[in-house]
Amino acid sequence: MQDFAERLLNWFDLNGRKNLPWQQGVSPYRVWVSEIMLQQTQVTTVIPYYERFMTNFPRIDLLAQANQDEVLHLWTGLGYYARARNLHKTAQQIMTDYNGEMPLTQWELETLPGIGRSTAGAIIAICTGQRATILDGNVKRVLSRVFKIEGWPGQSKTSRELWHKAEQLTPDTRVPEYTQAIMDLGAMVCTRSSPKCQLCPFEGNCRAYKTQTTDQYPGRKPKKEMPVRQIKMLVIESDQGILLEKRPPRGIWGGLWSFPELATEAQVKTYAETLGIRILTSASLPTLRHTFSHYHLDIEPLHLQITNATSLKGQDSNLIWFNKEDPETLGLSGVVTKILESR
Ligand code: SF4
Repeated sequence: MQDFAERLLNWFDLNGRKNLPWQQGVSPYRVWVSEIMLQQTQVTTVIPYYERFMTNFPRIDLLAQANQDEVLHLWTGLGYYARARNLHKTAQQIMTDYNGEMPLTQWELETLPGIGRSTAGAIIAICTGQRATILDGNVKRVLSRVFKIEGWPGQSKTSRELWHKAEQLTPDTRVPEYTQAIMDLGAMVCTRSSPKCQLCPFEGNCRAYKTQTTDQYPGRKPKKEMPVRQIKMLVIESDQGILLEKRPPRGIWGGLWSFPELATEAQVKTYAETLGIRILTSASLPTLRHTFSHYHLDIEPLHLQITNATSLKGQDSNLIWFNKEDPETLGLSGVVTKILESR
């Protein structure tokens, strides 16, 4: 299709989003933070998080100087916490290696933690207007459907084909608008289910629409039976609050504060002895399932009321009594927030 970019830009001029917070006062830092938040998360969810983040860290040096708990706290509820840890690490690296100025070349950006090919392309395209290509989830959906590109975009053959198409279609002019336009079309019109094809500038050419197969594109990830893991979370409550433990920096919910975790109930007694606490009552709370990309995690919370809270913070900086009425600035996973809210 010769006029792909032209049609898309005409559609964007009339319908695209031009008032998003990161479209105001455009800078590499502001665009980078927005692009990271928008990975796997919708615009409407991102906006309040983005505004809070920018109020707290209006500049890259302030983000670099922050402690990780402050950064994760502002990410609480947004999920995929590795994004926040990488953002923090990258801010520090840019301060050290680039004197606080984000590099604006594809290869340099791609060496930074959390910045892949598409995010680097988006930063360059939006901030410099130079020809650079993006291929996020929205773009993959649009291109898969318009050109009927077969296969799951996670497979390398399909991914290569999509990149090739995306690069061919990227125009030489109005690159920032084009970049926003293709993301907007995927988010607003070519939606995952029930795309609004009558409103789409490609209605007359889209191969999936013409063959009424839009629901088959992009191809689905081959189904695999997901394994299930089970863990116990100890919701230990005293008159000083609920006990939280800082998780190791790597792995699931890395660096976030969570309930102490055990593999089996038989370990509870030993754990209580290690902490020197006396259990008054113990009761199972409803099981929760959290699904990660590769497995389901069944969480069985066990509520323990204890009598002799000691000031654990002094003993171990990885443990605190969390007071819901006067919460500290900490990063919490969605699961922990849910259990705390139910208490
Ligand atoms: S015609 Fe429909 S399926 Fe095709 S790109 Fe437009 S919205 Fe998506």
